[in-house]
Amino acid sequence: STSILWFRRDLRTGDHPALAAAATWAQHGSTPNGQNEQAEVLPVFIFDPAQCHLHGRWRYHALINGLQELNRTLDGRLLVLWEDPVTAISRLAKTIGANSVHVTDDYTPYAQDLYERVEDALDQQNLPLVRTGDPYLIPPGTITTQDGGNYKVFTAFSKRWFALPHPGPMPTKVRNGKIEAKIGRSIAKTVDIDQVPAGGLKVTAILKDPSEISGFESQTVNLDKCTGAVPEVWTTHIGEKQAKVRLEEFLTGPAGVNYDTDRDRMDRDGTSRLSTQLAYGTIHPRTILAELAQADLPEKASERYATEIAWREFYGDFLYCQPDSAWENVNPGFARFDWDDDQEKFEKWCQGQTGYPVVDAAMHQLVESGWMHNRARMVVASFLTKHLLLPWQWGAKFFLHHLVDAEFASNQHGWQWTAGTGTDASPYFRVFNPYLQGAKFDPEAIYIRAWNPALQSLLERSENESESKTLPGLEIPENKPHKVAYPRPLKAGKTIWLKELDAKTAKKLHEKPGQADYPEPIVDHKTAREEALRRYHARND
Ligand code: FAD
Repeated sequence: STSILWFRRDLRTGDHPALAAAATWAQHGSTPNGQNEQAEVLPVFIFDPAQCHLHGRWRYHALINGLQELNRTLDGRLLVLWEDPVTAISRLAKTIGANSVHVTDDYTPYAQDLYERVEDALDQQNLPLVRTGDPYLIPPGTITTQDGGNYKVFTAFSKRWFALPHPGPMPTKVRNGKIEAKIGRSIAKTVDIDQVPAGGLKVTAILKDPSEISGFESQTVNLDKCTGAVPEVWTTHIGEKQAKVRLEEFLTGPAGVNYDTDRDRMDRDGTSRLSTQLAYGTIHPRTILAELAQADLPEKASERYATEIAWREFYGDFLYCQPDSAWENVNPGFARFDWDDDQEKFEKWCQGQTGYPVVDAAMHQLVESGWMHNRARMVVASFLTKHLLLPWQWGAKFFLHHLVDAEFASNQHGWQWTAGTGTDASPYFRVFNPYLQGAKFDPEAIYIRAWNPALQSLLERSENESESKTLPGLEIPENKPHKVAYPRPLKAGKTIWLKELDAKTAKKLHEKPGQADYPEPIVDHKTAREEALRRYHARND
C-alpha cells in the first residue's frame, strides 16, 4: 500500500520519525502485523499560497535550496505543488489511494489550525493524518509546573529540560530510492503492530515516482527551474549534508571552542549559524545535541551551546501553551503603554538610516544577507521599542519577512524579551546604549564598517580628501581618516581604534554602493532614554 509523507519544516531524511511512520504504514498499514509486497511512500512538499507572500527573498532562496537538496536525496522523487494544502492533500490521497498521510507536528498557531483542517478533509475519506515527531527535543506542552501550567521563566524551564532524558537520533535513511528505518513501540503502536523485537523492527519502503500521478500537472513546481542568486553561505545554502558539515566545522573549530566568550561578538564568526537549518528542519536538535555530547569542547562552551538550544525549546513550548503571545504582550502591565505611531521613523529603522552605526549596520546585514547576529538583533529591537518607542510587533513582522532563519516562536518571543513585554524579559527600563554595545561587542568597528555602506563611503571620501571629520556618534581622528573610534572609550582613557582593514574586506566594501553622507542620529540617546522611562512609569497612571 501507499502512504503520503508531507514535508514541511523537516527537509531531511535522517533522524526523521514521520518518515519512519510513513514507511511503517506503507509496509504494515492495511494488513495489521502483516507485510505488503509493494510498500510505497509518496513524498510531497506544498507551497502554501496563504504563506508564501510572507517569505522575503532570502527565506525563499533558502527554501528552494533546501528542497533541491532534499529532492536529490529522494532520487528526484519529491512532488512539489503550489496549491492550498487542504485541497492538495485530500485530492492527492484520493488519486493514489493512500492509506494514510504523515506529517511532522508543528506547534505554531497557523500550523495547528492547518492540520485540523487537513484532518477534517481526510476524515471524509476515512484516512488519518498521522503526526509523528516535531522540531523540538522535548515536545512542547510536556514540561509542566506543579499546577499543570507552562513555565513562564526560562531558568526554571531549562532546569527541568536538562534533567529529562534527551532522546537520541531516530535511525532513518533513504538510499537509492528506498527508505530504511528501525522503529520502536511508539511508531509500531500507530498501526497496531504487536511484536517489536528489543532492538526495534526494521521497515523498508520504496519512494513512489510522482511522474506516474496525473491530474496535478498545472500545480506542479519544477525545482530545477527555480533559480536565483543563492550565495554559498551557511545561512542560506541549506540542506541535510550542509547542516552536518557545518555542525562538524563548528564543533571542531574555533567558534565552538570559544563559543562561551565569542558568541556575543558581532565582528566574529563566533556562533554555529545553524539557525536556518533548524528553521527548515534540515537537522534536528536531537542530532545536534548527540554530536555536541561527543565533541571535545570546553565544558562551558558545550553547556552554553545546549542552553541556547534550550531557549529555542522554551519559546516553542511557551507559544504552544499561550498562542495569544504570538502578537499580544505576555506582560499585561503593557496594555496601556503609550507606543508611538511614527511611520517615518520606522522606515528609517528598516532602511538602516538611524544615524546609529551599530543599528544601521545590523539592519543592512539583515536586508542584504537575510541573517543578523543575535547581539545585533537585541540592539535593533531595543532601539525600535525604547529609542523610537514603536510597537515591537512592527519589528517582529519586518524580521519575519527578511530573516532567513525566521522561526515564529523564537522571533516573537525574542522581540517580546527585548521589548520588556515578554517572558522573564530584560526589563523595559534597562535601555541599551547602542554606542556602548558597539564598543563592547565590536570593539574594532569591523562590523559597523562591513555593513554600513554610507559610513564606509564617508570614510573613504575623507581618506581621499585627507581631511578629518567628526560624525555624530563616531569620531574620525585628524590625520588618521582610515581609523575610527566609538565616541566613548570602553574604559576611561582608553580609546579603541579600528585596525586597518584587510584587503579582502576593503574590496567587498568598495563594491557596495555608498551614500554621500551618514545621517544624523534620528533621536538623541539621552533624551530618548528619558522619554522611554517616563512612558514606562506613566503606563499605569
Ligand atoms: P547560535 O549561537 O549558534 O545558537 C545555536 C542555536 O540555538 C540557534 O541556531 C537557535 O536555534 C538557538 N538559539 C540561540 N539563541 C537563541 C535565542 N535567543 N532564542 C531562541 N533560540 C536561540 N532565532 C531564530 O532561529 N529565528 C528567529 O526568527 C529569531 N528571531 C529573533 C528575534 C530577536 C529580536 C532576537 C533577539 C532573537 C531572535 N532569534 C531568532 C534568536 C537568535 O538571535 C538566533 O537563533 C541566532 O542569532 C541564530 O544564530 P546561530 O545559529 O549562529 O546561533
